[in-house]
Amino acid sequence: MTAKSVLGEVREVQLAIELIGLGARLQFLEAEVSLSRERLIRLYKELKGVSPPKGLLPFSTDWYMTWLANIHSSMFYNMYQFMLNLANENGLQALIKSYRLYLEQIESQGGEIVLDFTRAYTMVRFFDSDMLQLSACCRCGGKFVAHAHDSKSGYVCVLCRPPSRAGKVRGAKRAGEHPAAALAGGHAGFAVESTLDAGGLH
Ligand SMILES: [Zn+2]
Repeated sequence: MTAKSVLGEVREVQLAIELIGLGARLQFLEAEVSLSRERLIRLYKELKGVSPPKGLLPFSTDWYMTWLANIHSSMFYNMYQFMLNLANENGLQALIKSYRLYLEQIESQGGEIVLDFTRAYTMVRFFDSDMLQLSACCRCGGKFVAHAHDSKSGYVCVLCRPPSRAGKVRGAKRAGEHPAAALAGGHAGFAVESTLDAGGLH
């Protein structure tokens, strides 16, 4: 291992602490933080009180297409793009900041975190490797996560055309309110809010 400055190492430790706090897996930490695997494992154990979980990362793009997952994923990815393109953050910082924003947004609404950190960064990789795309809904104009190479014309999002069981999601629907209303925030170009304002649902 090459000699590193003390400050540089402190920054790496801080980054690791932040990522572990967000729920990053060991594979991700090893890829993004330049600390040895042994130190990362020790840090993980100290912070979490348990060893890092073993097991493979999720590899299917299908998870992101189910109704509730698609809403959360789309919301997160719009925030991520905002951080990346408009706030000029690098990839990792954009991921951290947009994920924090997503957590804050859901928690402030008393909602349930559907997209964990591993799902979030796996999704970013799926986008990077051209397996997912954002498709604009022809009814509300919001941009939603879709399979890459699906036709973009005439695309209707999960909010404008929810499955019939969508309204039965636990705690998601209050009287007269769209089930996804709890997710609508004024963030980062995500168009759920305008969807809801448009009143064109149902
Ligand atoms: Zn729509």
